[in-house]
This record gives sequence, structure tokens and C-alpha cells, in this order.
Amino acid sequence: MKKECEIVQDLLFGYQDKTLHEASKELVEEHLKTCEDCRKIFSEMQKEEDTNENNEEIDYLKNINKKVKKKNKLLIIVGVILGIIVLLNIGIFAYYYSEAGKVQIYLNDDIKEEQIENIKNLITNIDENAKIKYFSKEDSLNQMKEKFKSNENLLSGYGGENNPLPAFLEVDTSIENAKKIETKMQSIEGVKKITGSFDSNPYLFMFSKVMVEM
Ligand SMILES: [Zn+2]
Repeated sequence: MKKECEIVQDLLFGYQDKTLHEASKELVEEHLKTCEDCRKIFSEMQKEEDTNENNEEIDYLKNINKKVKKKNKLLIIVGVILGIIVLLNIGIFAYYYSEAGKVQIYLNDDIKEEQIENIKNLITNIDENAKIKYFSKEDSLNQMKEKFKSNENLLSGYGGENNPLPAFLEVDTSIENAKKIETKMQSIEGVKKITGSFDSNPYLFMFSKVMVEM
């Protein structure tokens, strides 16, 4: 190998990277014009660099692809979560509107038959389609016993004359009418108390129902 070839080959990397001083660069260029061997070496070096660049490009594209896939996955997850939230809300509000129109009107123990009739009429005047169900003191106690089934002893001493629970009317109507009925019942004789969920927040309403079921 010629001495000049050795020098030029040492310089080829710098030449390829364009970091050579002007004089060295000229030397390499002049030499490459005349030396077949060094030209070959240099062209091999360039081919190699091209391949590396291509690989870098491919890596870059792969990376973008990965990022896009990740992003799509995230979007799908967010979409599913939003969908579940929307469905849950629809369910909660549907349940609220079907259930929250129920009102319990608790009656005094000394209420008379005609007073109960009067109350029923007042309700029907507000909503002629309202479903009204009468629960006697005994029904009331049985219902309570049913609720505390797992803890039967709790109410075993009660029954007959010894029944602290009031008779009540259960009214199934719309939320709007439930509010009207509540207002109306404030001043009616024989009514002990009126309860309902028509004023509650649908979420709290659902929550309380779930808690009772558990
Ligand atoms: Zn040479």
C-alpha cells in the first residue's frame, strides 16, 4: 500500500463526516480521483452509512407507530370509561324517576276510617292515576320484621296491642305530584308524618337504595 493511500484512508472518516480542514479535504479529493483502491474503500463506507441512516429512519417510523398505537389504546380506554359513565347516569336517572315518586304517609293511631278516605280523595284530586296502597299497623310491623329477618329477636316482643309502628298509605305517583301531595298533607288531620325521596339527589337516592339492599 502506498504511503499516500495510508494517509488518505486515515482521513476518510473525517472526510465523510466533513470535519477535515480544507487542505486535508483537497488532498483526499485529489487522491480519490487517481486511486481506484481508495475510491472503492470510500464507496463501501458510504454504502454502510446509507444503510445505517435507513435503519435509523425505520426505527423512527416504528417509534411513531408505537406512539400512535399507544394513543389509540388510550382513546379507546377513555371512550369506554365515558360510555360506562353515561350509561350509569342514564340508569340512575331512570331509576330515580321511576322510584322517587313513591311517598309514605304515616297515619295517627286514632285516625278514623273517613279521614283515611278523605286523604285518598285529596291524593286522587292531585293525581287521579296515583296508586294508593293502605298498610295497617300489622302490615307495617310485618314489613319491618321482614326487613330485619336476619335479626328476628329484635322485634319478637312486638305484636297485637304492643305495636309501635304506624299504619301508612303508600302512594306511587310522579315526582312532581309527590311534591304537591307532601305540601297538601302538611295540614291534614290524622297524618303523623310524610316521607319520600322526591327531593333527594338522584345519586344519593341510588346510593341509599344500594346501601339498604346490602
Ligand atoms: Zn490510494
